[in-house]
Amino acid sequence: MTQPDTSFTADGILSLLRSKGMRVTRSRRGILKALFNATSPLSLVELQKQAEIEGGVLPDYATVFRMMILLDGMDIVHKVNLKRSCSYYELSDPSRHYDHLVCVECGKVILLDMPCPVAETEKQLAQQYGFTGLKHSLEFFGRCAECSAPPASAPETASGPAIV
Ligand SMILES: [Zn+2]
Ligand SMILES: [Zn+2]
Repeated sequence: MTQPDTSFTADGILSLLRSKGMRVTRSRRGILKALFNATSPLSLVELQKQAEIEGGVLPDYATVFRMMILLDGMDIVHKVNLKRSCSYYELSDPSRHYDHLVCVECGKVILLDMPCPVAETEKQLAQQYGFTGLKHSLEFFGRCAECSAPPASAPETASGPAIV
């Protein structure tokens, strides 16, 4: 018997789906590939566009929708709150942690590269309220460095402190 691939890779997840009796179609393969290639959370429409299968064919929207419901239910992906009208998804690798910094101006989403800032709070909450299996989603919203910088073409305004 060959060992099943249990790695958090497109192949690992495909073999997990197969082990649960699900068919691995070209569309499903394409959607997973798009998720693994993504550098930020994707909406269903973006996923559909990026899940191009051979010959420029796109999986249909309903297939993408059902696949994401399925993967969400298996904790392979999660939704990210970007304060936009549609849902955005990203992979949920159990060995990683996902907190985000979101630019409200250009829409850039940065995955925080630091220990979770609320890990201690989560432990305290569990203790104080007797909750188990706590999870959280944490998004900070603001303007990124580029969007905060004044436009390069802006005329120079009077410099120096204006003391009246
Ligand atoms: Zn920005
Ligand atoms: Zn966190």
